[in-house]
Amino acid sequence: MIIDAHTHIYADSVADSAIRTIIDNTRGRLTAYTRGTHESLLRSMDAAGVDISIVLPVATRPGHGHSILQWIQEKVPLSNRMIFFGSVHPYDPDYKSIIKECKASGLQGIKFHPAYQGFPADDENVYKVYDEILNNDLAMYFHSGFDMSLPDCDYTSVERFSNVLDHFKNSKMILAHAGGDREWERVIPLLSGKGCYFDIAFVLENMKQSDYGREMYRLNEDYFVFGTDSPWRDQTSYVQLIQNSLTLTPQQKDKMFYKNIQKIIRI
Ligand SMILES: [Zn+2]
Repeated sequence: MIIDAHTHIYADSVADSAIRTIIDNTRGRLTAYTRGTHESLLRSMDAAGVDISIVLPVATRPGHGHSILQWIQEKVPLSNRMIFFGSVHPYDPDYKSIIKECKASGLQGIKFHPAYQGFPADDENVYKVYDEILNNDLAMYFHSGFDMSLPDCDYTSVERFSNVLDHFKNSKMILAHAGGDREWERVIPLLSGKGCYFDIAFVLENMKQSDYGREMYRLNEDYFVFGTDSPWRDQTSYVQLIQNSLTLTPQQKDKMFYKNIQKIIRI
């Protein structure tokens, strides 16, 4: 079984422009491997041999969490191979009711992208929102580290997540991009071994080559999950990089592909 813990799709009517905006923000340094629609992600999963994708929307302003939830509620019956996370803007005065509705709708987690949402990840004013999510037994998924579409923003820095993890030890948390895109020398001392999960999106290629990257994996083998950030990485090539790896054991591949994520998400 293969579970991709980190994917994005958009409503059909806005997918083209959403993809275009992100590519433009990176001055063309990103490539989209799907059209960003439900249908195109399913085709990509079929080609790659991915059984289930976790879809991570982001509420970019207060009020947006409710409309994301409505969209998810329409999509869920059509998508038995997708698991949707909700999103809430942490400064949304309605955050409690959105989190409650996410829980009542059967969602299993909430996605944050602090840089897109305009808050520092370790702003102590938002800890009450994290508390509310964790008290509802939902997972928290964060973009973490450098983001090439917002290069000057430090809201998702390794140091900030270190503060979050010190406060929320052993919580159901997943940090995308292994905690920081190729920032191994700070990720290892600041984030490793604190009981949080990491995905491999954008960093897998480098992790295979870097001594630090391999060390990070070795220290956290039971916490690494397979995630591509589709459409921004190609599911097929990521599956093949793992499947064809000569250094990972079959047991390690299983942990990465589906076992570790199932410690915090029901499939
Ligand atoms: Zn992403």
